[in-house]
Amino acid sequence: MIKLKGLHKAFGRQEVLKGIDLKVEKGEVVVILGPSGSGKTTLLRCLNFLEQPDDGEITIGSTRVHCNHVSRQEILAIRRSTAMVFQLYNLFKNKTALENIMEGLVIARKVPREQAEQTSRQILAKVGLADKGDAYPSQLSGGQQQRVGIARALALNPEVILFDEPTSALDPELVGEVLGVMKKVAQEGLTMIVVTHEISFARDIADRVIFIDGGVIVEQGPPAEILFHPREERTKQFLKRIL
Ligand code: ATP
Repeated sequence: MIKLKGLHKAFGRQEVLKGIDLKVEKGEVVVILGPSGSGKTTLLRCLNFLEQPDDGEITIGSTRVHCNHVSRQEILAIRRSTAMVFQLYNLFKNKTALENIMEGLVIARKVPREQAEQTSRQILAKVGLADKGDAYPSQLSGGQQQRVGIARALALNPEVILFDEPTSALDPELVGEVLGVMKKVAQEGLTMIVVTHEISFARDIADRVIFIDGGVIVEQGPPAEILFHPREERTKQFLKRIL
């Protein structure tokens, strides 16, 4: 279970998150929608302390931290329980697909190399890339690189996977294969928080859609409600622009 209470984040004088309260149940798939600059990426990055929140409380699994007096140990505990899939994949260019997946297991989790390799090969197969283990990122398509990015997150077996616009850098014909893998991951019961403009994913896969604007949650609910019968004017205007 993930719980955020009163999460605040400012960059200089710009308040980007203005008190976010959010609860995500185990196995839930939550899609976050919102206009550019509304704070979506910042919210994900605060959740795993890639950004240090200014205030608020974060609970992930059994770890609860108060953001304004958090220890290094607590930050590591939160990081260990999350994994992130980035818009631009963020793979190590000088490592093969397999080595990219093994890296977190060996370095961060101290898993013996042989066991890490075995796990990584299984997960590569799960994302449909069993035959690409020895390929370097430059030898893979964007869709394949992102599937390695997802495999790397899965290997860590986190409480939650945070997806930050995972398909927005891809050519349109490659989006489907990545969404397909994400769908499979969702169906396996992983907890997922996904920032995306892919309405089909939100409609078909999400348990809940959250609309954020100006650093606050404007409204949230089941996809059918938020996407097709929003109550708030700001949500209506946003959806009109993207649907
Ligand atoms: P997009 O859909 O365009 O990615 P977003 O909703 O994810 O937008 P954020 O990336 O969270 O929005 O950014 C929210 C605001 O915070 C923006 O005005 C952005 O310029 C600002 N911001 C984000 N990161 C930083 C930073 N490291 N330093 C200063 N300002 C930042």
